[in-house]
Amino acid sequence: MYSFDTLLAEISAPAGTGREVLDPATGASIAWVADHTAADVATAVETAVAAQSAWAARSDADRSALLNAAADAIEANAEALVEILSREQGKPLNGPNARFEIGGCAGWLRATAATPLPVETVIDDGETFAEMHYRPLGVVGAITPWNWPMMIAIWQIAPSLRMGNTVVQKPSEYTTLSGLALAKVLNTVLPEGVLNTVVGAGDLGAQLVSSEQIDKIMFTGSTNTGKKIVEASSGNLKRLTLELGGNDAGIVLDDVDPQAIAEGLFWGAFINTGQTCAALKRLYVPDAIYDDVVNALAAVAAAMPMGVGLDEQNVLGPLQNEMQFNIVDRLVESAKASGARVVMGGNPDRAATGFFYPTTLIADIDAHNDLVVEEQFGPALPIIRYTDLDEAIRLANELEAGLGGSVWSSDRDRARSVAARIEAGTVWINSHGTIHPMVPFGGAKQSGYGQEFGVAGLKSVSQPQVIQG
Ligand code: NDP
Repeated sequence: MYSFDTLLAEISAPAGTGREVLDPATGASIAWVADHTAADVATAVETAVAAQSAWAARSDADRSALLNAAADAIEANAEALVEILSREQGKPLNGPNARFEIGGCAGWLRATAATPLPVETVIDDGETFAEMHYRPLGVVGAITPWNWPMMIAIWQIAPSLRMGNTVVQKPSEYTTLSGLALAKVLNTVLPEGVLNTVVGAGDLGAQLVSSEQIDKIMFTGSTNTGKKIVEASSGNLKRLTLELGGNDAGIVLDDVDPQAIAEGLFWGAFINTGQTCAALKRLYVPDAIYDDVVNALAAVAAAMPMGVGLDEQNVLGPLQNEMQFNIVDRLVESAKASGARVVMGGNPDRAATGFFYPTTLIADIDAHNDLVVEEQFGPALPIIRYTDLDEAIRLANELEAGLGGSVWSSDRDRARSVAARIEAGTVWINSHGTIHPMVPFGGAKQSGYGQEFGVAGLKSVSQPQVIQG
């Protein structure tokens, strides 16, 4: 069992060598890491290729047992993983943050191990007999972002391994320690060569994408990088699952009790301090209850402490990096300059250490302000007033993003009829971003394609094969 110190020592380079990792909350040095080279990536791919046939030859039950053992290893080392995640990513220990993420890693491994994927009889009518089997694809390249660095990695790794593929993962350079620490713990139980990790900048990811020996890329990150991956992966017609940026709309209907939905709205928008692909990023509220909803949301937000992740009381943390701080800052300044009303926040201390941006609510904002139409990926929510529900739905649908959406109503049937009109991969009713390992998740429009989780997720890392006759 690892402590924070022993796990960090295993994954770090000697101090003063390689690249220094700084705590986004304090600016303090956490560790040094040695980035991989292009030659290291080639070796990792060769290793994954060499290990794949023996891994695929194991029984499904055997691979599932190893996923459960991996979940046990995560639980046994949970606090060490939590501390590395919190210090490097910035997210607090409590609330829907670091401990929640590590718990999610173990839960997703177990659920993936338990999901049945039997051979499907497609037709058996006396004349024709055909079955659908799901075979391994080969080697999966798993490329992950910095916002949920361990959980998103598990979402890619667990189904890939379950279906008999081996994996080369490339964590974001912003969360290198998290990627290495997760792999270290998983590899205490996985056979050698099955899960390989390369760390460094985006060009290592690009190398995986163009490799002829990689059969599938699971990618979560920005829409721009997703488009590059589509272009660069054509050499061997790689299979792709692309989970890209979102700009999810939440539409409140005029029949809700504002107090009853305020906390759900808050966590829908501010989970992981807003750095979540499927967070609520623009909220549409009817004029009749506008002030009540804004006030109820502000009261919840005011009670949520933000600060250094390792402080047990905090539930909101810093932005993970300066680039993201600057994006949020620019978008909120654009809203302020347009005359929108700052209900709270919007006044970061730019001279302070750490990338803290205060919890910000912006009301009476133009529906086409930059803060509404661009993805903020941080703790600043624009709240748009509407009088005509059809117009609110039109505004929700007018962007190219289509990851998630939500409808808030005390009338479930009415909410469902509005949900059906929202162009998004998932529409939640009276919550936002609540994911489940058995419920497929994936984007519409430019939020990507392919689905993760559940049976659909297993199929997406498999080669379907029909046996007929
Ligand atoms: P990126 O898309 O650049 O990064 C995601 C991953 O892709 C990282 O591991 C990155 O490596 C890698 N990568 C970068 N370039 C390539 C390439 N050409 N081929 C293959 N892999 C590559 O996202 P950013 O981290 O730069 O964030 C930018 C924006 O994306 C954010 O502001 C946010 O809007 C959105 N985003 C969305 C997320 C989501 O969950 N949907 C998560 C994170 C960001 P490296 O980081 O080392 O460059």
